[in-house]
Amino acid sequence: MNESFIINQLGEDREQYFNAVAPPIVQTSNFAYPTVDEFASAVANEKDMPIYTRGNNPTVNMLAQKIAALEGAEDCLMVGSGAAAITNAVMSQVNAGEHIVSVKDPYTWANHLLTGILPRFGVETTFVDGTEVENFEAAVTDKTRLIYLESPNSWTFELQDLAAIASFAKHKGITTVIDNSYCTALCQRPIDLGIDLVVYSATKYYNGHSDVVAGAICGSREKITQIFHNEFMTFGNILAPQNAWLMLRSLRTLPLRLRQSSETTSKVLDLLRNSSKVERIWYPFDEENPQIDLARRQMKMPMGMFTISLRTKDVGAIKRFCESLRYFLIAVSWGGYESLIMPKCAFVPADDPRVSMIRFYIGLEDAEVLVDDLASALDRLP
Ligand SMILES: *Cc1c(COP(=O)(O)O)cnc(C)c1O
Repeated sequence: MNESFIINQLGEDREQYFNAVAPPIVQTSNFAYPTVDEFASAVANEKDMPIYTRGNNPTVNMLAQKIAALEGAEDCLMVGSGAAAITNAVMSQVNAGEHIVSVKDPYTWANHLLTGILPRFGVETTFVDGTEVENFEAAVTDKTRLIYLESPNSWTFELQDLAAIASFAKHKGITTVIDNSYCTALCQRPIDLGIDLVVYSATKYYNGHSDVVAGAICGSREKITQIFHNEFMTFGNILAPQNAWLMLRSLRTLPLRLRQSSETTSKVLDLLRNSSKVERIWYPFDEENPQIDLARRQMKMPMGMFTISLRTKDVGAIKRFCESLRYFLIAVSWGGYESLIMPKCAFVPADDPRVSMIRFYIGLEDAEVLVDDLASALDRLP
């Protein structure tokens, strides 16, 4: 199945809804059946039949089917946020007394799940530098049930060798989960590399319009069915039909948006690389990234987010630089139409060595507009 077919055709049954090109929003909480027998047989198969929207909804399912196909996964569950996707996937795989090995510095709320919540239920996590497969091998114990990955991570962009880690984990009977939000399935397909469960903040590139918070969990039919009947139905965090519909709309332009963000990023990086005001760049496809060969092997294209550090460590100057940018909004999140910056100085004290780090997300504005904006802000820096 090619991407265009998945995005434009798969799961769309237009004769069911007046031949409308855009699918309807099935905005309902429950579904009625004409006979008790039909009702009973639907209830017996809640995973696949619409009974109640906490479990199943046609608009949400159309979206889940497309995301699963893009991912090369047998099945997918759409949830109300990326954090919910992570929580459902991780909690579904571990019991009290068991152990997780995680790449260090995962996304903030994944980190909180592993360090703040799971220890209350007797599940401990060891964090490792994910750049060497041996570090995972060394941290695994006979209690390890799960390896948690995020490649690349979303501040300093270290990668993990997914095929090597998946093969080692399979051999040991350990489940692997990856947060693939940075790449999307169009750039990196972890299931093809042997990873068991792929989780997304679909808020980011997948939705891409900064108007929906959403998450996805992709994996085998067996694992997804198990999560459906346990965590998914119990935690009750399905994506709302209205938001699924907005995401279906967003998916139509996903390849275009990714291409534009990626191409503009390389132009913006050309400027930053040649600026004397910039100290360092963190980006998977940067020529100076020691992991660039792994990036080229594992990722199909460079994406639109990176971090720089400025030479100046003067917080006043850093703040003035951020505030003088006209097109880059100061905000969390990323993956939308708008370019963003996230300055580290908003999170750390003025004497922290990371104080001049700024994360950039490159949106869909014209490259020239962004380059000019940055060039004049850099000029004004000491
Ligand atoms: C934003 C983000 C999340 C969390 O997703 P939400 O949709 O905000 O809950 C998880 N992982 C990464 C890498 C993210 O950027």
